[in-house]
Amino acid sequence: MFEITPYPTFSWSLSRHKTLTSCARKYGYEYYFSHNGWLSYNVEPYHQLVYRLKKLQPMPILFGQIVHRFIEQAINDYLQTGKPPTLEELIHWARGQLNAAFIDSTRHLESWRQKPNKYYMMQEIYYTGKLPTDLVQDYKERIKLVFEHFLRSETFQQITSQRGSLRIGEPEQFRSMKINDIQVFVVMDFHYFNELTDKWVIVDWKTGGESDDDRQQLALYAYYVQQKYRVPLEQIEVYNEYLLTGKRKKYSFTDFDMENILHTFQYSVLEMKKYQADIFSNEPVDLEDFEQTQEKWHCRGCNFRELCAQK
Ligand code: SF4
Repeated sequence: MFEITPYPTFSWSLSRHKTLTSCARKYGYEYYFSHNGWLSYNVEPYHQLVYRLKKLQPMPILFGQIVHRFIEQAINDYLQTGKPPTLEELIHWARGQLNAAFIDSTRHLESWRQKPNKYYMMQEIYYTGKLPTDLVQDYKERIKLVFEHFLRSETFQQITSQRGSLRIGEPEQFRSMKINDIQVFVVMDFHYFNELTDKWVIVDWKTGGESDDDRQQLALYAYYVQQKYRVPLEQIEVYNEYLLTGKRKKYSFTDFDMENILHTFQYSVLEMKKYQADIFSNEPVDLEDFEQTQEKWHCRGCNFRELCAQK
């Protein structure tokens, strides 16, 4: 049975680490003060508000989620039926979801307030009341590009040509591991074992541009596959598929990279522990002790700026 706890369970993920690095106050809102905000009663309205803001979706995030969802569905359907979707179908489905998000955001504000995990609310509309026309035009073009590149990608070509030889890894919701007794969540897009090449293959679809963080993220995925399937790094192939440009980038990792990612994990956990008032219950320190970032450019796209502006 679902148990209501006063504080969240402590866990680690790369996105949690990145949030803390960008702004401790944001980290506090995301990982502590939104806790239980999904409940309809027996919870302070403040936590409901923080939770609602946490659920706001800026266009790049929303777009990425929708594209990832349809890519996952396309691959699963293909593996079951042998029939790939057409470009028109993928565009149609994704546009339908983006339209649904727009309709929720503009016409169902009250429903979203009541049930923020059941309705969409686009961050741009919440804060400015509209979606800039050039942003809409930009994403209209991106939808076509990303699905065109997905269908033509070497990864999807391999899936369609070697379907019988691939063993697909477990679904995303089950991907976690323990490091030093801490639950670590690994939000990996797609991985499989190719019997023809005797390799584990990890693929991360990117709907935005290339970033310096991409390598670190993939190193964590490689560590996960190495630990979970007990295979050497030489047996793991890792790729970024950049769907806007159609570029595919291959990464090679060494033991040194694995040590680096473990070092990041350990250092990051120590930093996170500074915000625990009680290390056993994971009760947080006071909100004021989660410092606001001094790099104010982080605030421009932040879901919680309404709260910080009130201070
Ligand atoms: S608005 Fe700025 S200071 Fe406030 S939580 Fe967001 S990033 Fe941090």
